[in-house]
Amino acid sequence: MKIAFIGLGNMGGGMAANLVKAGHDVRAFDLSEDALARAVANGCTACKTVPDAVAGAEAVVSMLPNGAIVQQVYSAEVIGGAPNTAVLLDCSTIDVATAKTVGAAAAAAGYDMVDAPVSGGIGAANAGTLTFMVGGTDQAFARAEPILAAMGKTVIHAGASGSGQAAKICNNMLLGATMVATCEALRLAERLGLDLGTFYDIASKSSGQSWSLTSYCPVPGVGPASPADNDYQGGFASALMLKDLRLAMAAAHDAGAKVPMGERAEALYGEFVDAGNAAVDFSGLIRTL
Ligand code: NAD
Repeated sequence: MKIAFIGLGNMGGGMAANLVKAGHDVRAFDLSEDALARAVANGCTACKTVPDAVAGAEAVVSMLPNGAIVQQVYSAEVIGGAPNTAVLLDCSTIDVATAKTVGAAAAAAGYDMVDAPVSGGIGAANAGTLTFMVGGTDQAFARAEPILAAMGKTVIHAGASGSGQAAKICNNMLLGATMVATCEALRLAERLGLDLGTFYDIASKSSGQSWSLTSYCPVPGVGPASPADNDYQGGFASALMLKDLRLAMAAAHDAGAKVPMGERAEALYGEFVDAGNAAVDFSGLIRTL
C-alpha cells in the first residue's frame, strides 16, 4: 500500500520502518530534518509537506506529540488532502474529546478513521511488538487492522471513535497509581526489615501482584531486568506518564467521574517532573519516598 506517515520521532520512526519491512511504500513527513533523514535511512520516501505525503495515499498514519497538533494537521491538511478513500489512523496519545472531534470531521468528509494509541515504548515500536487499542466503526477497524498488525503484536477494537484514547488513558492511570503504590509498599517493606527479594517472591504470588511489581519492579536487583537496574534511564519517561495522567484527569472531569487515586498519582508525578525528573523513568519516583 501507499502509506503516508506523519511524525517520525522516537515512536513513529520505528513504526514507519516496520511498515517498510512489511512491503509498504511509505511517504514520510516530519518537521524535523533529522527525523526525516532517519526515516529515509529506514527505506521511507521523504516528503516536503503533509499534502505532498498524503496525495494519492491509501492510508495515513500519524504519531504526533499532542491533540492540538493532531487537530491542526488533520483539519488543515490531511482531511481534504488525502483521497477520501484513504483510511486514517492516528496513533498519537491525545485527549478523548479531540480524538472524537477529529474522527467526526473525517467521517463527515467521507473518510474511515480510527484513533489507535499504543501501549509499549520505543523498544516495542522498533521491534514491532506494540499493543494498539482502537476506536472507530467496524469498517474503519477492519481496514486499519492489517496496517496496525505490521507495527504491533496485539490489535484490539475498543469501541466507537475516541474509545482507543479512552482505553489508553484508563490503562495508564491504573499503571501510574499501581506504580506509586508498589514503590510505597517496597519502601515500607524495607523499613520493616524485610528482604526485598523475599517480599517480591511473596507479593508476586499474592494479591498485591501487579505489572508494576512483576514486570517493572522499581528497585534494582529484584525481579526481571527493568529501568531500575539501569539507574532509571530509558523505559517510560515521567513526563510522558504525567501527560497521560493529565489526559485521564481531563477525561474524568468531562465525564463527571471520581478518580481520587488518579488525582494523587498526577500530583506526585507533577512534583517529580517539576523537580527535574522529566526524562527519568517513571519507576524512579521511588527515590522520593
Ligand atoms: P517525539 O517527540 O519523539 O516525536 C514526535 C514527532 O512529531 C517529532 O519528530 C516532531 O518533529 C514531529 N512533529 C511535531 N509536530 C509536527 C507537525 N505539525 N507535522 C509533522 N511532524 C510533527 O515523540 P514520541 O515519543 O515519538 O511520541 C509520539 C506520540 O506517542 C505521543 O503522543 C506520545 O504520547 C505517544 N507515546 C509515546 C511513547 C514513548 O515511550 N515515547 C509510548 C506510548 C505512546
